Amino acid sequence: MGNKALPSICYDLHSHSTASDGVLSPTELVLLAAENGVDVLALTDHDSTDGHAEAAQATAVAGIRFIPGIEISVSWRKRLIHIVGLKVNSDYAEMQAGLAELRTKRERRAVEIGVKFEKIGMPDVYDGARSLASGVLSRSHFAMYLVEKGVVKDVQQAFKKYLQQGKRCYVGAEWASLEDALSWIHGAGGQAVVAHPARYKMSRTLFREFLKDFKALGGEGIEVACSSHNLAEATLMAGYAQELGLLASAGSDFHSPHNSWAKLGRVHALPEGCTPIWQGWD
Ligand code: AMP
Ligand code: MN
Ligand code: MN
Ligand code: MN
Repeated sequence: MGNKALPSICYDLHSHSTASDGVLSPTELVLLAAENGVDVLALTDHDSTDGHAEAAQATAVAGIRFIPGIEISVSWRKRLIHIVGLKVNSDYAEMQAGLAELRTKRERRAVEIGVKFEKIGMPDVYDGARSLASGVLSRSHFAMYLVEKGVVKDVQQAFKKYLQQGKRCYVGAEWASLEDALSWIHGAGGQAVVAHPARYKMSRTLFREFLKDFKALGGEGIEVACSSHNLAEATLMAGYAQELGLLASAGSDFHSPHNSWAKLGRVHALPEGCTPIWQGWD
C-alpha cells in the first residue's frame, strides 16, 4: 500500500481538546501530536471552535500544520450522526450561531440527565459532570464523573449502563439538521466529512440513503481510516467512498492518552483506490 519511497505525511483529522470532551488542553494536544509524529492536525471539538486560537498558536510553534475543524451533532431521521467540518473559518457568524444553539440544547439535556440520576438516588451527578467540563458539556463528562465516584469501572461501562440510547439516564434531543450542518460548514469555507461511519447502527440500505442525502447536500468526505474501524470496516467505507464519489479522510478521534484504542496520530493508511480529502489542499 502506498509508495514506500515517498516520505509519508501523518494526517490526523479528528481530535478533541478540553474545549469539548477531550482531556488535554489544545496546547497539550499539540505537544502530544508533535511527539507522535503528526504533521497535519485537525482539532474537531464537539459543537465548539473555542480551542482553535490556542491550537493554531501551539501548532505554529511545533511546526505542525493546523486544520481548524468542528464535529457537529446532527439528527438525521431521529438518529445521532456526527459530521466533521475541516478547514472551517471560525469567524463565520451563521455557523457560530448554530453552534451556540447546539450548546444551549446540550445544557438543557445535561440538566435533564441530572434529574434522571437524581431520581435513581444520585443527586450529585449533574454538578459533578459540570465541574469536570471546562468547555462544551458532554455525556463523556457524566461518564468521567461516574468513574471518579467509583459507580462504574470505566467510561464505556458508564455509557453501557446509564448514558447510551435506551439506558436509564439517556435523554434524546433534536440536534442540527444535516442540511444546516452542511450549510454552516460550507458557508465557513470548509469541507464536510461523515465521522466514524461504522459506529452508526444502520442497515446498509439505510446507510446508503444517508450517504446519498449527504452527497446531495454537497458533503465531500467520509472517514475511512479511524480508530473505531477495523480493516474490514475501513475497506467497506472505502467502497462507499468510491461508489458515491466521496473523498476519504483519516482521523483518530483522540480524546485521552488513557484511551488505548484511539491514539493521537495512529491511524491506518487509506486503502488503495481512495482519494484523500487532503488532495488539492494547498
Ligand atoms: P455527547 O456528544 O454529549 O452526546 O456525547 C457523546 C460522546 O461520548 C462521544 O463523542 C464520545 O466521546 C463519547 N461516547 C459515546 N458513546 C460512547 C461509548 N459507548 N463509550 C465511550 N464513550 C462514548
Ligand atoms: Mn467525544
Ligand atoms: Mn463523534
Ligand atoms: Mn469525535
